[in-house]
Amino acid sequence: MKVKLLGGGREVGRVGILLDDGAKRLLIDYGLNPGNPPSFPAASPPVDFALLSHAHLDHSGMLPWLSSRYNTKIYSTPLTKEISEVLYKDMLKIAESNGYPFPYGEHEMNISLSNFRLFDGNDVFKLNGYEIKFHPAGHIPGSVMIELKSHDILFSCDINTIETNLLHGAKPVKAKTLFIEGTYAGTEHPDRRQLEKEFIDEIEDVVRKGGKVIIPAFAVGRTQELAILLHEAGYEVWLDGMGSKIADLIIKHGNCIKSPKRLNKAMKSMNIVYSNHGRKLALKSGIVLTTSGMLNGGPVLWYIDKIKDDPKSAVFITGYQVEGTNGRMLMEKKEVNIYGVREKVDCKVKFFDFSAHAGHSQLVDFIKNVEPEKVVIFHSENPEALAQEIDAEVIIAENEKEIEI
Ligand SMILES: [Zn+2]
Ligand SMILES: [Zn+2]
Repeated sequence: MKVKLLGGGREVGRVGILLDDGAKRLLIDYGLNPGNPPSFPAASPPVDFALLSHAHLDHSGMLPWLSSRYNTKIYSTPLTKEISEVLYKDMLKIAESNGYPFPYGEHEMNISLSNFRLFDGNDVFKLNGYEIKFHPAGHIPGSVMIELKSHDILFSCDINTIETNLLHGAKPVKAKTLFIEGTYAGTEHPDRRQLEKEFIDEIEDVVRKGGKVIIPAFAVGRTQELAILLHEAGYEVWLDGMGSKIADLIIKHGNCIKSPKRLNKAMKSMNIVYSNHGRKLALKSGIVLTTSGMLNGGPVLWYIDKIKDDPKSAVFITGYQVEGTNGRMLMEKKEVNIYGVREKVDCKVKFFDFSAHAGHSQLVDFIKNVEPEKVVIFHSENPEALAQEIDAEVIIAENEKEIEI
């Protein structure tokens, strides 16, 4: 089998894995990096079908281009399709308002949405001589690892192996060849329970002193996980942005998470913000959970603008901040771009590492338990750190360079 990465080799993001077994060609994930402006993977040739591991745009964002062009069918879980649709629409809106050229529009998106074919976690399905099984990936709701049973290959795609409030960790699946993501190769995460405690303690501290807490959070996964945590800690929380819409979809496909009942209860306790009036009430009340997670737009900037000069208040960042984003600038320089003006921020700013990816040791353990003969590392800026710990043949994938497996 010949494999070529169209993107995602020695980099985190814009993943595209092209496979060719001599008879049929298929693509696993096809994403873009939704920066300003976005960056794209290499162009994919026509393929017989595409498999999508999860809805994040760095894995899904280019499928509308491919699918509308070649009428390619896309196989995913039902929840992944529904979340992808929300993210596509949001991305097209942002592309339009920023005025940069984009490889497809709403028409192409609609064609691709009609080309989705849905499979649940437990089915083995056969496509053009490939036998495929999805396994829960523990990364975001609806995410899967992809096993090509017919070829004895496992694609981890993005995984997390720890238990969170929202998801079970991914369990290893035996395979001869393993494609493993290495986002956090060489880096460990703090213990989740300890992190949660520290997060709640810090919120308590700010609230006690009369400050406001603004919590930017990714709409998919992070918002819902934090909603459960904050609700169960007894806080009254205001929720703004896309996270509540995504929560509705997750609850609708409740078998994708640990406890839909628990999430439902947390979401029912949230005060959802629908208007400017709601925003004022939210700010007055004190704890706001809101998009966007990297502060590159969305309601979060309105809130930060209001509290930025108040040293009693705080912005608690809850996810990785990509270079070049507003969130990264806030963490590094305590400055933030608000409506085109760069502003100094005097309130407290702190980062909490609630990651949706396995840390270094967790990746090493996972690989050991898959017992592969061959490991291909992708989706990583530091693949060597992982490579040196693997007791099997290791290939570090490079973009557009063919690998034989
Ligand atoms: Zn990814
Ligand atoms: Zn992801």
